[in-house]
This record gives sequence, structure tokens and C-alpha cells, in this order.
Amino acid sequence: LLQGRFIEAITETVGRENILLDPVDLTVYGTDASTFYSKPAIIVFPPTAEAAARALKLANDYDVPVVPRGAGTGLTGGAVPYKEDSMILASTRNDRILELDLSSFIVSVEPGIVLGNLNKFLSKHGLFIPVEPASDSVCTVGGNVSTNAVGLRGLKYGSFRESVAYLDVATMEGEILRVGSTTRKMASGYDLLDLFIGSEGTLGYVTRVGLRLEKIPRHRVAVSGAFDDHQRVVKAALEVLARGLKPSIMEFMDKFTVRAVSQYLEKDDLLGYDILILEFEGYTKGETMTQSRIAERVIEGFGGRAKLWDSNSEIWDFRKACLPALTAVKPKVTLFDLALPLGKLEDGLQEVYRISGDMKLDIGVFGHLGDGIYHPCLLMDPFSQEGEKLDDALKALSELAVEFGGSLSGEHGIGLEKKPYFAMEHPKTNIELMKRWKRILDPKGLMNPGKIWEE
Ligand SMILES: Cc1cc2nc3c(=O)[nH]c(=O)nc-3n(C[C@H](O)[C@H](O)[C@H](O)COP(=O)(O)OP(=O)(O)OC[C@H]3O[C@@H](n4cnc5c(N)ncnc54)[C@H](O)[C@@H]3O)c2cc1C
Repeated sequence: LLQGRFIEAITETVGRENILLDPVDLTVYGTDASTFYSKPAIIVFPPTAEAAARALKLANDYDVPVVPRGAGTGLTGGAVPYKEDSMILASTRNDRILELDLSSFIVSVEPGIVLGNLNKFLSKHGLFIPVEPASDSVCTVGGNVSTNAVGLRGLKYGSFRESVAYLDVATMEGEILRVGSTTRKMASGYDLLDLFIGSEGTLGYVTRVGLRLEKIPRHRVAVSGAFDDHQRVVKAALEVLARGLKPSIMEFMDKFTVRAVSQYLEKDDLLGYDILILEFEGYTKGETMTQSRIAERVIEGFGGRAKLWDSNSEIWDFRKACLPALTAVKPKVTLFDLALPLGKLEDGLQEVYRISGDMKLDIGVFGHLGDGIYHPCLLMDPFSQEGEKLDDALKALSELAVEFGGSLSGEHGIGLEKKPYFAMEHPKTNIELMKRWKRILDPKGLMNPGKIWEE
């Protein structure tokens, strides 16, 4: 059991009003958007960055495992404790905008700010953070940094990494490091910033984030293509890129997922099709329309039914409903995050369906086609024996990723879900190097232990 002396010391450090110990609260914080569950021993909301650093130092002194947490929308169990008697360090009460530097195009925020709220504020200045995950109405910037999240516009703007200028990170030793810079480019010494981005809370607790701003484009047009089969969707998408068109979004939804969303939203005009959704944005309407018309012709050239949509159209609500809609089909959904080289997208998808058929498992697939990311969602009935197939299915998908020169994660991280398969992807020497890095910052191994790799 967590030592009473630790609870006394942490209460003194952060204040009783910033601690939860009630068993009901602890139960709520025992899960994220994955299917993992494990109850923490204490929830701490550090009121300031300095308080977070002091809380970490105390945890280090008392050998208490720490799990950083944002909104808990992670899909791999990253914010779920692995060890007993863990302390959750939660950022959700730290949601202030600290500085808006319009001349350097940088905004500085606390880690618990919800990305969608930040973008709402920035839109008043005609600006935005272009990486917008489908969960942007709830997920936090600290969580986005720590998973290196990717949004629908990843094809044009990259992953969260490209948006981060600098970070403040509190370590287990109780220090606060500043890594990165407000300059546009930096070639001075090792890139410590990159080390923390996507590190899933295993190296330190992010207390402040400096983000690069983009101007909201003046014009946006969406183009959808409805196809009879998924191979044609992939072929058309690759042709759009081969022609030199520059979509900001390139999304895929298969027939299974389209059916789930059609039922969920009670809209059936795309029912029965595999679909491609593109967005073009630019400074002038002419620019976006020229590209959209060429994309329309590419879609029709591959036998698809093309349609143009306004920028804020319902097609994005349709896309963003994928995960909730699949959960309505069967409540236990495990979402894999398969990243493939673009040239392997067609064969890779075929393999996913082979695995689905061989294992007699319902798998709905959607994803960010332009970024080479598929999300095969494994649908299971929690009251049947289907759950027993989960490990085998995750293993088969991991093998597929490695065999096709891809990765086990394009955007959600490894967490608890994929750590049994992590060693398939990385040479032993690389994993050992990662572990050595972690030992430098966290010698006792208390910072989000049990994540990414097997201990
Ligand atoms: C419906 C739905 C749609 C989604 N769509 C997308 C999508 O399009 N793209 C995408 O990339 N993801 C998506 N996700 C996954 C999820 O929203 C992202 O991974 C998001 O970045 C997690 O943010 P969070 O605040 O919820 O973090 P959490 O789930 O709380 O934590 C995630 C990880 O970050 C660590 N962490 C959190 N805060 C900190 C901090 N301050 N310091 C250090 N480590 C920290 C945690 O320890 C954990 O390892 C989706 C999830 C859902 C449920």
C-alpha cells in the first residue's frame, strides 16, 4: 500500500484540493480509451510546473511509480497504470494559454489545454495548430506531444512533432528542462526535443509546450470518391499523389466502416462503397478548384463516383464518427495503428482482410491513406469467446507491419497494447539504447513503467 508518509508529503506539496483518493475517482482514472484497466492509488493535479517537479522528486524519493495523464483518450493503455500503487499526475487543471507571440508565430500553453479549445481561440487570429486528431474536442496538447499524434491533415502538415517548437519537461530528479527553441530552424547540438516527443510519458512530465502556428487557409474544398472495391481506392489515392496534386487530407473508410457509420448517423448515401475523402486548401479558390477537378477525374478514371463538398461539410462528421460507430456494432473495439510504406498500401490491406477471414474476426478499416496509416479495428463481443483471439490478431498485424517494412504505430504509440510485439520491429541494440536513455533520466524506472517494451 502507498505509504502514509508519502501521502502526507504530497498533500503538503500540492494541497489537499489537488488530490483524489476516493475509490470511485480512482476507478474512473483506471482506464483510457483502450480496453486496459488498472486502478491507481492516488491522482494528483499539480497546480504549477514547479509543483509537478516537486511531486516527481517526492515520488522518486518514496519509490512511487508515476503515470502522466491528459484526457485519457489514448488508444493503447499509455495512461493506464502498470504497477500497483501508482500515482497519476494529471494535467487537466493546467489548461492556460501562457503567451501568444504573433510575430514569431508561436503560442505557449500548459499541457492540459484541449487542442480543440486552443484552436477555437487561435481562429480569432486566423491561425491554427494544423495537427487535428479526430479526438481534438477532448484530447490535450500534453497527450498529443507525448504520443506524437497525427491529425487528418498530417499529409500536408506532418505529425505533432512538426508543430512543437519547444517543451518544458519535469524529470524524476525534480528538475525542469527546456528543450527545443523558438527559432524556425536549429542545428546546435543533439536534438533533445525529438527524444521527448512521442516518448509516451516514460521520460518526464511535460509542463509547458511551445507550438508553431499556421495561418488558416482561405479556401478549402473536399472531394469524395465512392468505389466498388478497396483496391481502386488505393490506386486512385496513389495516382492523385503521382500527379503532383497536394491534398491536405487523404482518408480511407472501408465498406464495413461505412456501413457502421451510416447506421450510427442514419445517413445512407455512401452505403455499400469503399470511400476516399480528399481535401484541398489554398490561398485562392481557383487554386483549390483546379486541384479538386483533377482529383475528380482521377477518381472517375478508376471507376469511382466523385462528389465535391464545401469545406465544413458533413463528410468530416461522417469520417470522425468511425470509431464511435464501430463501437456501436460491438462494444469491445481494439484499434491497431498500422503504418506502411505507400507502395505497400494495396497488398497490406489485402493481408488485413486475409487475417480477418482466417481468424473469423470482424475487422473494420479506416485510416489516413496519404500518411500510409490504416486503423484495422478488431471488433469483439465481450460476452463471447472472441476475446481469446485478440493476442493472436495483434501478433498477426504486427508481423504484417514488420514484413512489409512498416511500423507498429503511426500515431497512437505502443503503450501496453503492442509492447509484446515491439521487439519485432527494432533491433536489440536500438532497444538497449532506448533503455539506456531512459535510465539517464529515470534511474529507478518509475516514470510510466511497463510501457513500450517488455521489462
Ligand atoms: C475517437 C478517438 C479518435 C482519435 N483520433 C486520433 C487521431 O486522429 N490521431 C491520433 O493521433 N490519435 C487519435 N486518437 C488517440 C488519442 O486521442 C491521442 O493519442 C491523443 O494524443 C491522446 O491525448 P490525451 O490527452 O487523451 O492523452 P492520454 O490518453 O491521457 O495520454 C496518452 C499518453 O501521453 C502521456 N501523457 C499525457 N500527458 C502527458 C504529459 N503532460 N507529460 C508526459 N506524458 C503525458 C500518457 O502517459 C500516455 O502515455 C483518438 C482517440 C479517440 C478516442
